[in-house]
Amino acid sequence: MLAIYKALIRPHLEYCVQLWNPVAAHGNWATVLELESVQRRFTRLIDEVGTLPYSRRLEILNLTTLAERRIRGDLIEAFKATSGLTDYGSVFVKMPRFQSAPKCHACKKSVYANEELHAVSRLYHKMCFKCMKCEKRLTSGQETEHENEPYCKNCYGKYFGPRGVGGACTAGCLQLQPE
Ligand SMILES: [Zn+2]
Ligand SMILES: [Zn+2]
Repeated sequence: MLAIYKALIRPHLEYCVQLWNPVAAHGNWATVLELESVQRRFTRLIDEVGTLPYSRRLEILNLTTLAERRIRGDLIEAFKATSGLTDYGSVFVKMPRFQSAPKCHACKKSVYANEELHAVSRLYHKMCFKCMKCEKRLTSGQETEHENEPYCKNCYGKYFGPRGVGGACTAGCLQLQPE
């Protein structure tokens, strides 16, 4: 009975456990207890010890709780990692997004596929692509480019259009432009 449990049942309870380990301190008590209940139930089926308390059953069968085995598993994995026995290279190559998601030009935070906007040969969040002067939100194609920065058509006309050219003419020119 115990051999069946160790060979056929327990591996399912611990498959790739390093990736999903439910740590009680993170609030997953329900999962921890649910897993433990499988071992609890199975050891109760073993003739000589079935009626004893769980902790006593484990002692006699020379088992530990599954929670303790997960700690042991983590320690083994940590040892393998620090002594170079496991090569994690290929694992992380498959998940480049966790390492280097592309960054938004405006706010410098990661941009994911559903929120990206390519404009003026850069990457932005849709929310972050704004006119550099009035901060009106722009969609791709609405912008007018000046020295690699996006502006709305109004602001471009005000600041860089035919009348705005020359730099010295700022306040005066603004008054000439109808809003
Ligand atoms: Zn952004
Ligand atoms: Zn503007």
